[in-house]
Amino acid sequence: MKARVILIGPPGAGKGTQAKMLAEKLDIPAISTGEIFRSHISRRTELGVLAQSYIKNGNLVPDEVTDALVRDRLGEADAVAGFLLDGYPRNVHQVEALDAILSDSGLALDAVVELTVPDGDIMGRLLRRAGLENRADDTEEVIAHRIALYHRETEPLMSVYRERGILLNVDGRGTIAEVLTRLTEELTDFLCKNPL
Ligand code: AMP
Repeated sequence: MKARVILIGPPGAGKGTQAKMLAEKLDIPAISTGEIFRSHISRRTELGVLAQSYIKNGNLVPDEVTDALVRDRLGEADAVAGFLLDGYPRNVHQVEALDAILSDSGLALDAVVELTVPDGDIMGRLLRRAGLENRADDTEEVIAHRIALYHRETEPLMSVYRERGILLNVDGRGTIAEVLTRLTEELTDFLCKNPL
């Protein structure tokens, strides 16, 4: 099912893993701004060097840079019929930028999925991942900063999208397979009931 969907959740909610699997089921590309940045960092591009200086401290890469990256990526052929955005938008400014990117092409979002995980579970999940993936931004101090930033900058997006009637909350607790089944069922149900 092709659709334009955003997946939002706190760091450590399992968004990246779920986004890839869910996108495959829906036959749309999963677009992760964090992953695009990490790819630039490993290739040592100019953008990578810039992004790294923010990411290593758990700060957001400046909006102009991130918005331009998303505009380019959404303009690619595979994203025209639908996409699953993971990690963008992350603040109210980026919501407006995304609205502009889409409306310039006469498009709109179909659904915004909030993957919810209790605060108490997040730090443990992220520290476990740090051991597995060796991400530079998964130290305890940086994680705490990213969680605080999520509450301050990203959580307010939920009321914006709730007011638009396109917000769907999905429980992110459980095994990867359980969460994927729940996400897929609840999202497809939502998309069927709320055709644009
Ligand atoms: P993620 O993989 O989504 O956890 O992103 C890793 C890091 O990349 C974040 O902590 C930010 O530093 C940066 N990043 C990812 N997406 C964005 C965004 N939409 N705006 C600004 N910075 C971002």
